[in-house]
Amino acid sequence: MVTIAVTAEGTDEPRVAVSPETAKKLTALGAKVKVETGAGKRSRFSDEALKAQGAEIAASAADALRDADILLKVRRPSADEVKALKPGALVIAMLDPYGDKSGLEALAATNASLFSMEFMPRISRAQSMDVLSSQANLAGYKAVIDAAAMFGSAMPMMTTAAGTVPAAKAFIMGVGVAGLQAIATARRLGAQVTATDVRPATKEQVASLGAKFIAVEDEEFKQAQTAAGYAKPMSAEYQAKQAELVANHIKNQDIVVTTALIPGRPAPRLITRAMVESMKPGSVIVDLAGERGGNCELTEPGKTIEANGVRIFAPLNLAGEVPVNASSLYAKNLLAFLGILIDKDEKVLKVDWDDEIVKGTLVAKDGKIVHPSLTQGA
Ligand code: NAD
Repeated sequence: MVTIAVTAEGTDEPRVAVSPETAKKLTALGAKVKVETGAGKRSRFSDEALKAQGAEIAASAADALRDADILLKVRRPSADEVKALKPGALVIAMLDPYGDKSGLEALAATNASLFSMEFMPRISRAQSMDVLSSQANLAGYKAVIDAAAMFGSAMPMMTTAAGTVPAAKAFIMGVGVAGLQAIATARRLGAQVTATDVRPATKEQVASLGAKFIAVEDEEFKQAQTAAGYAKPMSAEYQAKQAELVANHIKNQDIVVTTALIPGRPAPRLITRAMVESMKPGSVIVDLAGERGGNCELTEPGKTIEANGVRIFAPLNLAGEVPVNASSLYAKNLLAFLGILIDKDEKVLKVDWDDEIVKGTLVAKDGKIVHPSLTQGA
């Protein structure tokens, strides 16, 4: 039998790595699921609800971890937690593999096999395991909800006897998973939505959501998507043209949501101080790229600042603010991944170390960091 432990996250992380639904499915796979008491509380998963679906509620983290083969977490666990597992156990979490290098080395030194869900290959077989998508989608939604709450005016156009309220103008910069959901949410709230990206494929996606696409569509734009589906860093010449276009457009916008990222690099700077100063007081910028430095020059990651009456909000864990859905989807991503690690017939752990998904996510094994992005640089 495979024993799976789930312990509570730190105070700044409301999500949890198991849901009643996944507890039931993991139990059906023949696993024993041990959850620390209260671990699901902030996601509204009570001990009783988890227990009713087959989970065993442990009185403490130590009780949950003892003799477990697998530890499931949202964030990187401590080395002490991992040492309490069976020797050579599997740890599966969003390990923040590029952050706190010495902490990651200490974790690797426990000899556990560490898997980082952020490294999930973006291949169709792994779509159901893609935590960046499941969480970015919710972050894109929540960014618009928070922007609407911070904005002192209404979002939809309203025609009333006392006069007409104009529709808010929302501009979404970066149309990946988060940006697409931001467009859809802003449209549902009745805003007039425009969006921009450097990947040509996004033009049609924006139009299909009923928003207007604006971008510098030159020769470089036509080549801006990598084979993996991500954006390339753009040339200084392109960036200058893009800045001119954005400067002309942004001064009339009420809500701007930025999500632009380039894998392995700092976030591209798309909004300058002068652009912020050109915006109307009361406008709101939500910068979802804060963790990677931000898309706006004035962004202070994790804070809300105000410049000339424009508020710039750079949350670091927006998906965590929709914890019920974020935990449910994250737990389903983990369940799908465990589906390839556990032998369903023999009900034992059977890891195929040559599997593309296993190799893609494995960060450390037998005491050493093994992922090529970490051993050879990104
Ligand atoms: P991301 O978080 O890396 O970036 C967000 C967006 O920012 C991207 O659309 C990118 O093109 C854009 N961007 C980068 N630089 C920019 C700039 N200078 N100006 C304007 N926009 C800029 O992207 P993501 O949400 O992870 O999605 C990236 C791609 O991966 C998409 O094509 C998506 O459809 C694809 N995807 C595939 C899978 C899968 O196959 N499993 C899963 C999820 C996403």
